Amino acid sequence: MNEWLSSQFVVNVLFFVLGAIIGSFLNVCIYRIPRNESIVRPGSRCPACEAPILFYDNIPLVSYMLLRGRCRNCGEHISIRYPFVELVTGALFVVFCTVLGLSPELAVSLVFACLLIVISFIDLDHLIIPDILSLGGLLLGVALSFFRPSFGNVDSVGGLLVSAGLLRWAPESLVRLATSLGGVLLGAGLLFAIAKSYEFLRKREGVGGGDIKLLGMIGAFCGIEGVIFSLVAGSLLGTIVGLPLMLIKGEGMKYAIPFGPFLSLGALIYAIAGNDLIHLFFSFVLR
Ligand SMILES: [Zn+2]
Repeated sequence: MNEWLSSQFVVNVLFFVLGAIIGSFLNVCIYRIPRNESIVRPGSRCPACEAPILFYDNIPLVSYMLLRGRCRNCGEHISIRYPFVELVTGALFVVFCTVLGLSPELAVSLVFACLLIVISFIDLDHLIIPDILSLGGLLLGVALSFFRPSFGNVDSVGGLLVSAGLLRWAPESLVRLATSLGGVLLGAGLLFAIAKSYEFLRKREGVGGGDIKLLGMIGAFCGIEGVIFSLVAGSLLGTIVGLPLMLIKGEGMKYAIPFGPFLSLGALIYAIAGNDLIHLFFSFVLR
């Protein structure tokens, strides 16, 4: 038991460090993708004075603390957002590693989590979700479904089709693909229908096209249950955060709060503990 504990501890530390390093790269993506700049070249620069950041000033989390949140060259304040994204990414890597173990599912989930982090912060900053991330992520999610054993489960849409006899003789890879595509269709379709009804009733846009593509992408990675879970959880979280803001700052705030980060948070919760939470909910309701 002790040995297992210590080896698990080492794995967790390694995953945290890996996550923090990747989080540092996600910061670059969050800053540059909406500005249509290359995410590879040039190397990191101070947003204020454009001085290149030296490698020893670019160590995730550590450099921020050593520099006390200021640029070495110009002394300008560095946003706390940079270490925050690194910390969140590192923490998520540890959580996913603990929940899923070293598996193909883990690799896919980490890619999914990184996409959601970048999308959320870009949406917070610019109120847009670039297609390269949502549609690109959607295609990636469909392609990666082939590597996900859990997508062949009886719980999933693919599993439903199998038990209905529709895919009985289909290879398992096709079942996994059906699960992912089912999620895409429901995700994009559901939010598209909500957006159109809202527009019809209120004569103005309430749900943006970016959110529709985002829920499609979430479906590609999480399947149908994941879409429903993310939409319900995202709406709840959005209301909890948004309602007080609207009461304080007025109706106008409704259109200044992006929905993408809440959908993303809902999807992350689903990816980590969705099945447990769904079972808990139904055992509570059906008691
Ligand atoms: Zn500077």
